[in-house]
Amino acid sequence: MKIGVLKERGDREARVAMTPESALALQKLGYDCVIETGAGKAAGFSDDAYRAAGVTVVDTPDALIEASDVIAKVRPPEISEVDKLGPEKTLISFFYPAQNKELLEQAKVKGANVIAMDMVPRISRAQKMDALSSMANIAGYRAVIEAGNNFGRFFTGQVTAAGKVPPAKVLVIGAGVAGLAAIGTATSLGAITYAFDVRPEVAEQIESMGAEFVFLDFKESQQDGAATGGYAAPSSPEFREKQLEKFRELAPQIDIVITTALIPGRDAPKLWTADMVALMKPGSVIIDLAAERGGNCDLTVADERVVSENGVIVIGYTDFPSRMAAQSSTLYSTNIRHMMTDLTPAKDGVVVHNMEDDVIRGATVTKDGEITFPPPPPKIQ
Ligand code: NAD
Repeated sequence: MKIGVLKERGDREARVAMTPESALALQKLGYDCVIETGAGKAAGFSDDAYRAAGVTVVDTPDALIEASDVIAKVRPPEISEVDKLGPEKTLISFFYPAQNKELLEQAKVKGANVIAMDMVPRISRAQKMDALSSMANIAGYRAVIEAGNNFGRFFTGQVTAAGKVPPAKVLVIGAGVAGLAAIGTATSLGAITYAFDVRPEVAEQIESMGAEFVFLDFKESQQDGAATGGYAAPSSPEFREKQLEKFRELAPQIDIVITTALIPGRDAPKLWTADMVALMKPGSVIIDLAAERGGNCDLTVADERVVSENGVIVIGYTDFPSRMAAQSSTLYSTNIRHMMTDLTPAKDGVVVHNMEDDVIRGATVTKDGEITFPPPPPKIQ
């Protein structure tokens, strides 16, 4: 069978779903590989590099879809791309089925099988395919680099002949995958790093990475935000008030705030309010990784860099993984390759779409003309 990779069509998307290296691994699984011309260019992979890895380069998306049994990409497909799928074809990409009902319906009508990388269950066995985590890790790292690029000072403290420089103080709000990556990057650059999360169980992870967990004086220091499955639940009004009070106290001394707080299925909670921005020093930086879901900061504008009246820079870019396209393409294409490994048990280039497998079942959103989203809860943990 053939696996083909489409060029991404969005303006702000430089990633690609296959690298020359992952193509070699896919060929070892028995697949022939095809790619649309220019698909890897923005991530630093030329057509010639793919050819050298045994990949056939085709000129148009139509030719790519026509030639391929499995079509892989990064972003959810365009409706015109779904239109060209058929019963014998499998699409693998981020799909966000809950937000893309029209795409889901069209994939069903076309009889195509769709595997959504964002629906891979977050269980240990599936970590190698967990593209949400591999991209969140990059976003967390890049958020700190972006902050450094906008902050006119050092992260690390220095004593030099030209004067003493204090270390930067960084606050990370939300310590999931992206937040922990941001903490690791900020501490390794020498900043004094504080972090807060509503899930008390992350305190140990935060501290093990060299940051200080911000405890609240709330019901004997009990945080109240843990829900099922390791995710957060909305906070009670009393807890939220305590949290905002603490942030107001910290705001004047913090140089860089990185917010990553999300609650599944909801808009991002507003945690860094306009009055906190007003309390910060000029030249301070806020990077809001929750911008796509409305932002954690009152001043965030998605995909923009805005400067507050008191000179605080607020960045709401939503394409951090794409800004590190070589790295993110390498990790994403490895996630895809692992998904293909599980779909090809005999390593003979033939897809076995086993709906008894919890991971494959969980990620499959359409199959044989049926919508299979939402999936039943996974049996294994
Ligand atoms: P996420 O992107 O959904 O949320 C980011 C963080 O924001 C979370 O840590 C959440 O607790 C926090 N948050 C929510 N509301 C907040 C508030 N008001 N104030 C401060 N913080 C707030 O999280 P994620 O990165 O997807 O990770 C969620 C969970 O999934 C974590 O427990 C993580 O360890 C787990 N996980 C497991 C696996 C696996 O087992 N394969 C893989 C990835 C993540």
